[in-house]
Amino acid sequence: MSEKTACPRCAHPAISQLFTSPVPGAWDVLQCEQCLYCWRTSEPARRTTRTAYPDSFKLTADDIRSAPEVPAVPPRCAEAVKTVRHLILAGSTHAPCLSGSLT
Ligand SMILES: [Zn+2]
Repeated sequence: MSEKTACPRCAHPAISQLFTSPVPGAWDVLQCEQCLYCWRTSEPARRTTRTAYPDSFKLTADDIRSAPEVPAVPPRCAEAVKTVRHLILAGSTHAPCLSGSLT
């Protein structure tokens, strides 16, 4: 198997073709079936080939198996909502992104 058909990030051989350029032969978007890394075949070698991919970002199957679970977003804290509501009512601009959801 050629290097270009293995995942640059984890070296897994199962690669899917997600998209193809509307210009025939210009590029394809590929995705690794193991780590889900995606790349366009027209990107530089450091993004498309295992040997040129940065060592610090390479993964092994063991790395993927032992990766920590992404933590879930915690439920809203009633006390935090009360504090933000108080800040908004007091005219504070410290929480403008939340003002729409609390009015
Ligand atoms: Zn991969």
